[in-house]
Amino acid sequence: MTRLIFLGPPGAGKGTQAQIMAEHLSIPHISTGDILRQAMKEQTPLGIKAQSYVDSGDLVPDQLVQDLVAERLEQADAQSGWILDGFPRKVTQAAFLEELLQTTGQGGEKVVNLDAPDAVVVARLLSRGRKDDSEEVIRHRLEVYRHETAPLIDYYRDRHKLLTVNGDQSQAEVTHALKATLENRE
Ligand code: AMP
Repeated sequence: MTRLIFLGPPGAGKGTQAQIMAEHLSIPHISTGDILRQAMKEQTPLGIKAQSYVDSGDLVPDQLVQDLVAERLEQADAQSGWILDGFPRKVTQAAFLEELLQTTGQGGEKVVNLDAPDAVVVARLLSRGRKDDSEEVIRHRLEVYRHETAPLIDYYRDRHKLLTVNGDQSQAEVTHALKATLENRE
């Protein structure tokens, strides 16, 4: 049973690597960013509420993402493991998840910290061309990452759940390092 949380700055390659590993392990890749973008596209109540936050690079309110994650982890395909990408994004969300996993008996999760220097992630984001990838929004998202999300590295290290992989390599090299790290984790 594999339950993984992918952590790292925007542009570190979380989404790509999470997708590759999810396919490799035959478990769902659950990206809160993807779910929010889809909801925005469909203009669902969730999408409408999230839009202004996502567009400006701010975090959407905890309640919105926590509800969607709780609902998603209840689904049948998530009972045999999952990869969470983009959640939790701050300590309050991590505490929520910890409690959720305890009450649903879905513990044993590991956290992969995919690390890459600022210059690398900015260059990657600028070449990606997503709507929230303008230079100003990118700078803001990195700031939000540093203030809100980076403290999760210590949070999970303290709980002995942290695995670190160097994201400043080619896609194939990161995948290789990731597989090696996950296979040796016990
Ligand atoms: P991502 O695709 O993970 O880079 O997420 C894109 C945007 O969705 C972020 O900049 C936030 O506005 C929003 N978002 C995604 N996940 C979360 C989360 N866990 N908490 C709050 N906002 C989130």
